[in-house]
Amino acid sequence: MNQKISIHGLLPQELEEFCRSAAQPAFRAKQIWDWLYAKRVSSFEEMKNLPAPLRALLADNFVFHDLAKLETKGNQSETQKLLFELVDNELVEAVLIPAPRRKKNTVCVSCQVGCLFGCAFCASGQKGVIRNLTAGEIIGEVLEVTRELGERPNNVVFMGIGEPFDNYDEVMKAVRILNHPDGFGIGARKITISSCGVVPGIQRLAEEGLQVELSVSLHAPDDELRSQLMPVNKSWPIRKLLGACADYTKKTNRIITFEYTLIRDFNDQPEHAAALVHLLRKFPSRVNLIPLSPVDEFEGKRSTQTAMRHFFQTLEKAGINVTLRDSKGSALEAACGQLRARRSRKR
Ligand code: SF4
Repeated sequence: MNQKISIHGLLPQELEEFCRSAAQPAFRAKQIWDWLYAKRVSSFEEMKNLPAPLRALLADNFVFHDLAKLETKGNQSETQKLLFELVDNELVEAVLIPAPRRKKNTVCVSCQVGCLFGCAFCASGQKGVIRNLTAGEIIGEVLEVTRELGERPNNVVFMGIGEPFDNYDEVMKAVRILNHPDGFGIGARKITISSCGVVPGIQRLAEEGLQVELSVSLHAPDDELRSQLMPVNKSWPIRKLLGACADYTKKTNRIITFEYTLIRDFNDQPEHAAALVHLLRKFPSRVNLIPLSPVDEFEGKRSTQTAMRHFFQTLEKAGINVTLRDSKGSALEAACGQLRARRSRKR
């Protein structure tokens, strides 16, 4: 791997430290930050108000680009998927989901190359995790999408390749840069961390004092079914997971969203809906039902419209705050790892 780290992976205080160690006044850090995020330049040479020796020093110590766009699929009026190559030739994906009527653009980022957790329906976890992304690489994804879009996105969701809590420190650093008022300025509530249910990560996030959204993939109402889909359930079964979620809500006052992908005849039957109601009816939360996006690696099928509607109605009637994700949103799930998997197979 490249020894130099990305300049975009530095927090303001780290830039200040760097300037201090280079005998530069503290205001230089602010100037650099401004070039990076307000002016969004793409090279050190463009930072015109910095002395040339400082620009040279920055170039000696940091890289500007550590990912390159390889492929774009789809268009900006719908869902657009972007495939990136990292400096070590590994591949990751990001997805842009525009909602022009609501003047809202969401970018879904990856946080690891591959994934340790091997969920059955996901192309990203079939071959394990190769490495973590740095905060700079995660920010690089958002910057590339910003360039593509011509403006910064309003929402960032960590729902791409990888499990955010398996790369906790770099993800949190990226969140702080995205949230910084002079960085991307994206409100904490517009940043969603999505976990497959890694309990220590949920416990740690509860202590951060951040107002980010947390979404947890549940996908089944009992351990037997969930373990068939998600090996993570063997480490942290539903009772433990919900215990950690309840503590999280108590501590942060934040409601958790549970993701539930509907798979035909597997977890979409009336008894599954009833079991889910039983599990969550006293739990202050939201449930997001997601139509399955078929992937080559998984033989499960999308539920019928009727089954989805009935499932939704059962939850709604029981007073659960439930949404059924539209097809555009479900394309986000579909994006998780499929471009990368296809390109990797070609290679
Ligand atoms: S769904 Fe998420 S946690 Fe599960 S294997 Fe895919 S990337 Fe990993």
